[in-house]
Amino acid sequence: MNKSAIYNTLIEVIDKESILQNVDMGQFTSFKAGGYADFLISPSNNNELAGTLKILKEQNCEYFLMGNGSNFLVRDGGYRGAIVRIGKNFDKISVEGDILTAGSGTLLSSIAKEAMENSLTGFEFAGGIPGSLGGAVVMNAGAYDGEIKNVLIHVNAMDKEGVIHKLNDRELKLGYRHSIFQENGWIVLEATLQLSHGDKDKIKEKMLKFNKLRNEKQPLNYPSGGSFFKRPEGYFAGKLVQDAKLKGLSLGGAQVSELHSGFIINKGGATATDIINLMVIVQNTVWDKFGVMLEPEVRIIGER
Ligand SMILES: Cc1cc2nc3c(=O)[nH]c(=O)nc-3n(C[C@H](O)[C@H](O)[C@H](O)COP(=O)(O)OP(=O)(O)OC[C@H]3O[C@@H](n4cnc5c(N)ncnc54)[C@H](O)[C@@H]3O)c2cc1C
Repeated sequence: MNKSAIYNTLIEVIDKESILQNVDMGQFTSFKAGGYADFLISPSNNNELAGTLKILKEQNCEYFLMGNGSNFLVRDGGYRGAIVRIGKNFDKISVEGDILTAGSGTLLSSIAKEAMENSLTGFEFAGGIPGSLGGAVVMNAGAYDGEIKNVLIHVNAMDKEGVIHKLNDRELKLGYRHSIFQENGWIVLEATLQLSHGDKDKIKEKMLKFNKLRNEKQPLNYPSGGSFFKRPEGYFAGKLVQDAKLKGLSLGGAQVSELHSGFIINKGGATATDIINLMVIVQNTVWDKFGVMLEPEVRIIGER
């Protein structure tokens, strides 16, 4: 991979300010830990995004998509390639009747607020999830009484050749923390949600209730990626970790949260290696005690 050739061709399609090199990804992920990426590219619109994909392909440069960075970790050896960030340039929201459409870079908290302002119910569950709409569609994020699957009507997404497709809910293959985008690697650009007319005060009350629950039950004072493990069928990951007596276990700066055993937190100065090694200890212990293999929900990329 020739980094200067990549940079020199990228600046033909995208502003210099939107291309960062040798970037400490700990500054851009909610774990506040991890290695460096060769490039962090933030396209401003669909044309720049398509141009970026074309150049990365021509230059044989691997890429990984990120939204708000609340569910992934870069190993300490770094990522040899480009992180393409779908962020604040893709954050338009529009509301027509009970239908809300938003760009994939829009934060879930902003969408929940906009829905509330328009007296639309159905999105309260997502107001406290610290991700973007794109990341939430890809992960079929969910909490409390809802998940993205329940409100999604269709998604506009870009394939690896830069062509835009409209996918309806059946084509999205939404399941527990799963969507078609984890299989095809397409980029979510915009999503349309079906909400319902409701009472603004009740919507606000529900959002406050969910936020209170989060504050009580989750270690929000520490950097983390949220619940580290997927829920294994028939079990709760946090309960298995707790029953395996791993609550509070520390390794370097990483710790199994004392408040919520499903979270691995950065207690201060954790490296990605600390977090990943602690994850492996948890997986092995839970496997030995209960015969259940915990799969990480957090995406881990990069070199050791
Ligand atoms: C404190 C805390 C609490 C959390 N609580 C919850 C919860 O209650 N429920 C829940 O489901 N999750 C929760 N999470 C996890 C996380 O917030 C969600 O998975 C969120 O949807 C991820 O969005 P993101 O924009 O941060 O995605 P990122 O972390 O940036 O990316 C996650 C994945 O999505 C892909 N991706 C991101 N944007 C796009 C795009 N536009 N197109 C294609 N692929 C894309 C990435 O490649 C990656 O595979 C929590 C995390 C934290 C830190």
